[in-house]
Amino acid sequence: MRTKVAIIGSGPAGLLLGRLLENAGIETVILERRSQEYVLGRIRAGVLEQGTVELLDRAGVGDKLHAEGLVHDGVEFCFDGNRHRFNFRELIGRTVTVYGQTEVTRDLMQARDSSGLTTIYEAENVSLHAFDGDAPKLRYVKDGVEHQLACDFIAGCDGYHGVSRASVPQDALRTFERVYPFGWLGILVDRPPVADELIYAHHERGFALCSMRSPSRSRYYIQVPSSDRVEEWSDQRFFDELRRRVNEETADKLLTGPSIEKSIAPLRSFVAEPLRFGRLFLAGDAAHIVPPTGAKGLNLAASDVAALAEALIEVYTERSSAGIDSYSARVLSRIWKAERFSWWMTSILHTFPDTDAFGRRIQRAEFEYLRSSTAASRSLAENYTGLPL
Ligand SMILES: Cc1cc2nc3c(=O)[nH]c(=O)nc-3n(C[C@H](O)[C@H](O)[C@H](O)COP(=O)(O)OP(=O)(O)OC[C@H]3O[C@@H](n4cnc5c(N)ncnc54)[C@H](O)[C@@H]3O)c2cc1C
Repeated sequence: MRTKVAIIGSGPAGLLLGRLLENAGIETVILERRSQEYVLGRIRAGVLEQGTVELLDRAGVGDKLHAEGLVHDGVEFCFDGNRHRFNFRELIGRTVTVYGQTEVTRDLMQARDSSGLTTIYEAENVSLHAFDGDAPKLRYVKDGVEHQLACDFIAGCDGYHGVSRASVPQDALRTFERVYPFGWLGILVDRPPVADELIYAHHERGFALCSMRSPSRSRYYIQVPSSDRVEEWSDQRFFDELRRRVNEETADKLLTGPSIEKSIAPLRSFVAEPLRFGRLFLAGDAAHIVPPTGAKGLNLAASDVAALAEALIEVYTERSSAGIDSYSARVLSRIWKAERFSWWMTSILHTFPDTDAFGRRIQRAEFEYLRSSTAASRSLAENYTGLPL
């Protein structure tokens, strides 16, 4: 089999890249290790930057998002029980939209399926070959039979644990990493959310986030030590702890119910450099990881592939390699800004094992500054709703 761009991974990065290239008449094949149902069953991100919404619109997959997504004009911070709302629309005229990653993935998959494009699910043992030359290829096993896919370019959109980054010679890659000593215990519950917008809470017992997926489905998180296991957290224990970390009014309003999903996500900052190796490009979580504070993971994946699609379209329509030559530097500049913002939000909102009384005063001062300074509030708004590429 042969295609122009072989994409590894059918997460949001791979699917959106496929869609953007399809719209420019460039053929792609996606190889995905898991089944379609498995990919659709993953509960992950839920906050889309305004630029991501605009990109999905341009890709022609924005109808359901506009019908069902919840446009949020701002977010709230609750610091030691004091709530403050940052109104992004008033501050900078921009918003975010709450729409689950599962839905984004479903919309992109349906668009791809109805265009009759090839996605090979349950492709095992995907391996990358000759991407340092002019004729890269992939090998994979499907239903016990080995296949080969020849292509012009390979897009590694296979997430943090994928095969693409691992196939790059170690001495060609530099990585930067920070692992945080806690995780987020998340719970999904079929009850209306406690507030219309997200509440990011800092408390001496740890961080908490009140989020949502729809007007009837809530998503709540609390910071837990990395060593905790999900089985140690009954729904009752979770909600008791969440109530302690938010202000009284929020705690009183909280509607609890049986969890329909519960999991612990570790927190990590990670960047690989560069993101191009001959005819292989890394994008999305294959290239970088952010802690979920600030909701940048999915949005970064979208902006990476927007840049990659532009660059590849330039190759095919203008016979120019300028875009692919500058891809890595261009997206890394935005990636590092999002890394900085996610790290900063994580630092001010969480309780670290070594946070002493001095450290807590600094966190409180940061919050006081944020809410009292229009310049600082605008900076938060600009970063949260998404910086330009
Ligand atoms: C529990 C959790 C909660 C999160 N919450 C948020 C949030 O609130 N906000 C936010 O912005 N971000 C969040 N994220 C991050 C966000 O989900 C990711 O940044 C986003 O999924 C990145 O998309 P991607 O397409 O790059 O990678 P992925 O979604 O990981 O997709 C990669 C795909 O590649 C496939 N694959 C892997 N290896 C291979 C292989 N060898 N061969 C073929 N296919 C392969 C995988 O099966 C997968 O389908 C969260 C992540 C997790 C895990």
